Amino acid sequence: MRSGVRRLVTVAMIGVVALGLSACGGSEGSPSGTVAGLPITHFQSGMKPNAPTPDLQVRNGSDDAADKLATATIADVESYWTTELPDVFGVKFEPVKSLLSYESNGPNQESGCGNTKKNINAFYCGQDDSILWDRGVLLPNMINQFGQLSVVTVLAHEVGHAVQYRLLDKAGITRGTPTIVKEQQADCFAGTYYRWVVEGHSKYFSVSTSDGLNAALSSLFLVRDVAGVSATDRGAHGTAFDRIFAFQLGFEKGPEQCAGLNLDNIGPRLTERSFDSGDKNQGDIPIDATALGYLQDSLDKAFGGAGVAGPKIVAEGGTCAGGPATAPASYCPSDNTVSVDVTALADLGRPVDQDGEFAGQSRGGHGDFASFAEVASRYALGIQKSVGASTDNANAGLRTACLVGAWAAATSKLGSTKLRLSSGDLDEAISDLLRPDSLVAADVNGKRVDAGFNRVEAMRTGYLQGSSPCSTRYP
Ligand SMILES: [Zn+2]
Repeated sequence: MRSGVRRLVTVAMIGVVALGLSACGGSEGSPSGTVAGLPITHFQSGMKPNAPTPDLQVRNGSDDAADKLATATIADVESYWTTELPDVFGVKFEPVKSLLSYESNGPNQESGCGNTKKNINAFYCGQDDSILWDRGVLLPNMINQFGQLSVVTVLAHEVGHAVQYRLLDKAGITRGTPTIVKEQQADCFAGTYYRWVVEGHSKYFSVSTSDGLNAALSSLFLVRDVAGVSATDRGAHGTAFDRIFAFQLGFEKGPEQCAGLNLDNIGPRLTERSFDSGDKNQGDIPIDATALGYLQDSLDKAFGGAGVAGPKIVAEGGTCAGGPATAPASYCPSDNTVSVDVTALADLGRPVDQDGEFAGQSRGGHGDFASFAEVASRYALGIQKSVGASTDNANAGLRTACLVGAWAAATSKLGSTKLRLSSGDLDEAISDLLRPDSLVAADVNGKRVDAGFNRVEAMRTGYLQGSSPCSTRYP
């Protein structure tokens, strides 16, 4: 988010989040009860205790936990593609020619794609059809911060690139294919592999559709591009928002959909954008009374079309006298206010330190938009209550996330308000949405939907399609 009106938008879009929440037609079943048609499961996700020892040669490999996990992942993902590639595309899957484990903080290893020294990374190298990973810094940090499944996600993505090299024209891949298309396909292929694991086909891993998939989605956040990179830049990987879209597409629809991704069909939904020139590479503003005033104005205008009085945001400590208490922000039905704990919101809203995060240090906060989204979610519950919609069940949580997405998209069209989305904001919202104690997809009592998969889908629906599907999909 950034403040300040430096750009006049001449589109009159006041009241863009027009609600018809009491109308309950057009339901697509019960999206909160399943994850892409699969039951919501709860168990410890990760490597199975009885996982076999993979029969793979790894150059410069070691016995450490990171290498064991990486090797098991490659073996598993390759075994998936060994049956899937012939079945779906009629193409034989040749395993990746070589695997190299290195320490970015140790001696250099020769590779087909340059020096490994100081290269904190994991990647597919097309030059010699190899996959390389840094077991010195990157993998241990990922395991520490995001758990085993972060390594599985990243390496499944890298094998996805190897799959592209085997499919070539069957996936529309040529020398000139933009990086973003290759990245979207690889994320999508990772999603198809995860579905296979979730369905119980893997010898190495078990993944639940709640915390397990949440971890997979959160780790796409770790490897996102730095904010401010435009989707058309060489080397762009996509924002977390865009990447999760591709992953979920693969999970829901399978590998044929992934191979069909190209610039024409992904272009319109890509959210990666450069910072506006006035933003000077920082889109975050401190969360204080002034910022909350801007937020109030933005929400009032965006939800004006609902035709009901919007709640007032008040600094009353984040809980309501007569309940509920969902600090740092609560919707209080008794006086139609959103009570906020400004200090806690300011802490949550500190900028994300992406370099620190990548190197395994503190990640800072979740960014200003995380805090705004928390408050916006409570405000949206007030609007829902006033129009007579339910506020205390799973659909209310998802509908709320959907409305926050619709509001986020609307901020760019509300020319007369001081808040609008800046580069990186959507990723801050995703990062917040996947936190275990996020409010963005929680009902009025703070009860949230277990599956981050569904939370993200709900927010994206609102962001890309506006508020009308919020009430029909989540009645
Ligand atoms: Zn990639």
